[in-house]
This record gives sequence, C-alpha cells and structure tokens, in this order.
Amino acid sequence: MPHPAATRQLKRRLGARTDTSPAGCWAASFDSSKISFLPEAVVTPKIETEIGVVLELANRHRVPVTVRGRGTTLMGSAAPVRGGWVIDMLKLNRVRIDDEAGMAHVGAGATTADIQRAAEARGWFYPPDPSSKEYCTIGGNIACNAGGMHGGKYGVTRDFVIALRGFLPTGELVQWGTATKKFSAGFNLRDLWIGSEGMLGVVTGAVLKLIPQPAARWTLLTAFPDEVAALRAARVLFRARLQPAICEFLDRVSVLCAERATGKTVFPGQAGRPVILLEFAGAVSEIEDLKFEVLAWARAQALAFREARSRTEVEELWAVRRKCSGAMFELGDSKINEDVVVPMRNYERFARFITRLKRESKLAIPTFGHIADGNLHVNIMYHRENSVETRAAEAAVQKLMETVVALGGAISGEHGIGLAKTPFLRLQHSAAQIRAMQAVKKALDPRGILNPGKMFGVVRIWKYEKLQVKFPWDHK
Ligand SMILES: Cc1cc2nc3c(=O)[nH]c(=O)nc-3n(C[C@H](O)[C@H](O)[C@H](O)COP(=O)(O)OP(=O)(O)OC[C@H]3O[C@@H](n4cnc5c(N)ncnc54)[C@H](O)[C@@H]3O)c2cc1C
Repeated sequence: MPHPAATRQLKRRLGARTDTSPAGCWAASFDSSKISFLPEAVVTPKIETEIGVVLELANRHRVPVTVRGRGTTLMGSAAPVRGGWVIDMLKLNRVRIDDEAGMAHVGAGATTADIQRAAEARGWFYPPDPSSKEYCTIGGNIACNAGGMHGGKYGVTRDFVIALRGFLPTGELVQWGTATKKFSAGFNLRDLWIGSEGMLGVVTGAVLKLIPQPAARWTLLTAFPDEVAALRAARVLFRARLQPAICEFLDRVSVLCAERATGKTVFPGQAGRPVILLEFAGAVSEIEDLKFEVLAWARAQALAFREARSRTEVEELWAVRRKCSGAMFELGDSKINEDVVVPMRNYERFARFITRLKRESKLAIPTFGHIADGNLHVNIMYHRENSVETRAAEAAVQKLMETVVALGGAISGEHGIGLAKTPFLRLQHSAAQIRAMQAVKKALDPRGILNPGKMFGVVRIWKYEKLQVKFPWDHK
C-alpha cells in the first residue's frame, strides 16, 4: 500500500536527500539475490540525525523501512519486499583509527576493505573479511554477522564489535556499549542487534576491536585423493593444535572451475583433485616452528603439496580460491549458494552426503569453504528455464538443510535468513524459540516497520524468480 502523504512529508523534511525518481527507486529495489520490489522513496542521509527523522515519520505513518548498505546480501534481506522507504547508508562512511586503544571508530556506510586498509596503514589488523569486502559495508556486516576466510582463527564480525550506535525503529537514538574493552552495565542489546538483519534497529556507527598485524605469513596448498580424505586430514591438523589463519577447502569440481578460470593446473599431474589452501600467520619465529610440523602433516596426509615461495606464488594460489565461484556458471545459469555449517566431527559424513546429493539430483554441486569453522558453501547449479533441473535444485536445498540440522549444524553461518532461507528457519529453531525472537521484534519495533516480511514468514523464493532483475551481462 503506497504512502503518498507521508512521502510528501519526508521530501519536505529531507529535501534533496529523498529520491522518488523511477531510476533511483529501481536501483534500490533489489540486492544480490536480484529479486526486485520497488520502494516509494530512497533516502540518503548525510548526517546521523536525519535517520532519526526518517524513522520517526515512518513509525508515525506506519511506512515500511528497509536499511541498505551496498546490497550485496544474497538472501534478499535488503530487498524492500513491502515497498515503503529505503535508507541508503553509504554516505556515513567515516573511519578513524585509535592507535593507542587499538580500535576503529567507523560509520555504518564504510566498506570493510576501507576499514582494513586504514587499520593496516597503522600496523593494526581487522580480520573479518567477507569475499565482498571491497563493496559491502560494516553496517551490513554487523546486520548479517558476516564472516570470511579468517573466521576459524580470529572469529567473525560479532567478535570484533565493541560498541554500536544507532536508532530504534521509533526514531530514538541509542548506544550499546562504549569505547572500552569491558562493559557489563545492563542487558547486552549490542549482541542482539548483531545478526538481526536490519529488523531491530538501524546501525549508524560502531567501535571495532583491532589486533596487531601478524609479522609473518606462510601459504601452503595441499591436494588429496578425494573429498573424504581431505576433510579427514583437516581434522588431523586441528587435533594437532596447528591453527591456520585461513583453511579453505575446494572439492574436485570447484578446483576444475578454478583451473578453467585461471587457465592453470593447480598441481601438474594431479588435475582436478580436491585441495586445502592454508595460511599460517604470526610472529616470524612462531611460523618457523610451525612449518616443521605442518610439512610433516602434509607429507603424511596429502597426495601433493606446494609452498608459496614468493608474493607472486601466494597470489597464484589465492587466485585458485577467488576464481572458482564465478567459473561455476559454466555448470548452470543459476546458482543457489548455501552457507551451511557442519560440526567438525561430521565432516566426512557430510562429504559422503554431498556425493549422494549430486548423484540423486543429477546436478553439479561444487562445494568449497572455510573448514576451520565448518562453514561450507554448497553451490547448487541449475538452468532456470529447465523445469526438471529447477525442481531438482529445490528438492536438493530442502535435503541439504534437513541433513545439516540432523548433523548438528546450522542452516546459515554468515549470510543470514532474509527471504531465501525462511522455509528452513523452522528446521533450525523450535516454535518456542521462534516465538521468543518474534517477541523481541515486537518489543523493539511495535509497529513492525523495520524490514518487514523477512525471517519469520515462509517465502518460497522460487515463486519470485520471475521478479528477478536481469542484466545484459548475466550468464546465458
Ligand atoms: C560475491 C559475494 C561474496 C560474498 N562473500 C561473503 C563472505 O565471504 N562472507 C559473508 O559473510 N558474506 C558474504 N557475502 C554476503 C554479503 O556481502 C554480506 O552479507 C554483507 O555483510 C552485506 O553487506 P552490505 O553492506 O552489502 O549489506 P546489504 O546487502 O545492503 O544489507 C544486508 C542486510 O543488512 C541490513 N543492513 C545494512 N546496513 C545496515 C545498517 N546500517 N543498520 C541495520 N541494518 C543494516 C539490511 O537491511 C539487510 O537486511 C557475499 C556476497 C557476494 C555478492
């Protein structure tokens, strides 16, 4: 239902910050899920107080509001499914490093990569590193509790947020915590906002923890006869307390995709073997000590291994990981990218399940991911116009989610629920748990204006496929 009177008031209050043009609204109508719902207006605040004005108006007139960072979420969580207004956070992008305290004071619209670069320039390190870090915002990272390759050793966004500032859906300014490393005064609503997918409040700024940059890094690529052997070997590594900063697994199909994309064989003579790519980071002496034990592990467990001996070789090895995902579109024009989490004790059972799922669904399902924390990206590839494949893909996702929960895992490790995962929330959570979450939502957002239609209502995203935005550069 449109809100013309409220939108006129918004324009009067915020003038040029409010865009109601068809082009402006279209650009804010979708995120990386590409499912599009047109808003009535897009507001781009330059100062924090303007967000309070928008929310107070929206709450008074019951206008749905969706907060938008860079729209890189794959779950449809930034798509304004009920229309209304979009708040674009990109102009609140300040970054200031507190050298002494080892903290970054950031605006919600700052990109993750800008924060990392500012920290690095002063000898500090901000480890959470989603692959989208050049584009995505810290506000979006906080809302989704984003992770990345460094998660296993250092943790995810939640582990680095010291304090948050922002607005309740009613338009009241709040601050959860302050720039101190300890804070034990009252309920911890900071952690409630983290991972709440823009449904409980609007983050305008954050104080982030930084750690010293490691002095040395060492990269090693290992190949294994099959997926079960690779995942078993990873468990041996962790049991030996050899903690890599990054530990990335790529199954055979992901390796073949990377080889097609880079035009290089990862291991000559071992084409298309599953691999684990490792980076160790720490003090120089620590890395020298580790090398001895890690190489012994590689000799005992792997078919082949390669150490990076120069910066160029490091880059070559990381290209394998970076390029595999895009190259998967040779296997299908559509991808369902799931970010499930599997407990380590069940790695081999999960690998056998994926092999069965491929055989039974007759689909290509390249799988790769962060095996230091069990967060595996299962990519179900299909052709959208082929109804047999589409149905097989839908059935494969259902089976995947049921199996992950049965193995004691999680349906999402870093992407969140949004719209796309709503059919599976009930697999993860009991009715009582969901009621508790809904009670929190009702308490903080009594009129239900902030990012409505997400998380709790079951949405079969397939039904919306016809609403997907198409670009000229889309894969055929
Ligand atoms: C190629 C690619 C690679 C990716 N790799 C990773 C990865 O490695 N790890 C990972 O975790 N994710 C990954 N993602 C997913 C995505 O980048 C992350 O979820 C990211 O955190 C989203 O940030 P954003 O600024 O784009 O947020 P958006 O997509 O704009 O929004 C995401 C959600 O956050 C809410 N939100 C945004 N800003 C705020 C705010 N200031 N206050 C309150 N709510 C807000 C929105 O309402 C929405 O619900 C990837 C995505 C792509 C396209």
